[in-house]
Amino acid sequence: MKSWPLVAVPQLNKSFSFPQISLTNSKTLKKELVVKKDLYRMYVCGITPYDSTHLGHAATYLTFDLINRYLRASGSDVLYVQNITDIDDPLLERATRDNLDWEDLATSQIELFRGDMFNLRVIPPAHYIGAVEAIDLVTEAVTALQATGSIYAIEGDLFFKNYSSPDFGSISHLDKESMKEIFSQRGGNPTLAGKIDPLDCLVWMAKRENEPGWPSIHGVGRPGWHIECTAIALKYLAPIESDATCIDIQGGGSDLIFPHHEMCASQAKVLTDKDLASTYVHAAMIGLDGEKMSKSKGNLVFVSKLIDSGTDPMAIRFALMSQHYRLDRMWTDELLEAATKRVAKLRDAIASPDVAPTKPVIEKMILALSNDLDTPTALVHLDKWSLDTTSGVSGGDVKELVAALDALLGLSL
Ligand code: ZN
Repeated sequence: MKSWPLVAVPQLNKSFSFPQISLTNSKTLKKELVVKKDLYRMYVCGITPYDSTHLGHAATYLTFDLINRYLRASGSDVLYVQNITDIDDPLLERATRDNLDWEDLATSQIELFRGDMFNLRVIPPAHYIGAVEAIDLVTEAVTALQATGSIYAIEGDLFFKNYSSPDFGSISHLDKESMKEIFSQRGGNPTLAGKIDPLDCLVWMAKRENEPGWPSIHGVGRPGWHIECTAIALKYLAPIESDATCIDIQGGGSDLIFPHHEMCASQAKVLTDKDLASTYVHAAMIGLDGEKMSKSKGNLVFVSKLIDSGTDPMAIRFALMSQHYRLDRMWTDELLEAATKRVAKLRDAIASPDVAPTKPVIEKMILALSNDLDTPTALVHLDKWSLDTTSGVSGGDVKELVAALDALLGLSL
């Protein structure tokens, strides 16, 4: 599928040194140094295109954009892959509810998402792959799982035994009762008659009446959600045989830890006998004015609506970076207003004929970002630089700072 347009990223002066970045790994629950590599393989789970792009999505993709930018600025390459779940129950349910054709709904929402990502200056993935275009990959993965004895059928639907992987549960750290509860809230069906284990997940769903289906070796049907990501990640990130894990970073929102990432990892382990990722990174949730932001509450704030109403995308980006990615946090008008003011001060300072020294502030930004993407601290250093500049301190190279702001933070000012 077509990704969004390329976002030009300026080169930073090579004199800056980049410490190894540390990130919090959901699997170990620790902040860990990411091993230095020439090429990182990063997979981030994409949207289901029916409610895009709300600020929770934006915060998630921004988090991985910051990782992407840091690794690139430090001299490495990043092979970045993202999927889009363009066929799944929630999409069909929304299309039925709103009396829309599901494909039209998906197309319109994907187009919005692309525009929002471009406006927020998120570097596009090298491969942006839809579930529909990955159907052959999914059926091949299901066939490979079948060969291991980890697949069984219930009335034409195929299920994967998650406990086929000895590591099942090692990412979410949940007990079985909690897993069952969350599984049932997030699209699983633990009480379905015929299941060998309640946590077994659907990998191929036989075609239902009035729903789309695609012909395959497993009958006419459509892919399950978890196997979609497993199959796409293992194909497009081209894991290296000699590496200890299939890929380097798997990411998404924290609501994907279970069941989605746990089940993808379980499938990958059975398919490859390796852990799916070295580091599992999860961005926290965004609420609105003290409440959880959710589809069911109907209080989603959409990036496209904010931008249409005149909000500067760089202020949205700044506001989302003004708090830490691992902190469940609230979106408020005050947060956006404060970010807008801070961006304005930064722009004023950049426009000054003389600016405060720039090397030290860039070094401090790099150091803050290397520490588990500590964007709040990086932005405080920038505030201080703006204040110094408008107070008359001079000696800096404004071009160098403008390039660093874009290269590291995606702020094009
Ligand atoms: Zn996924």
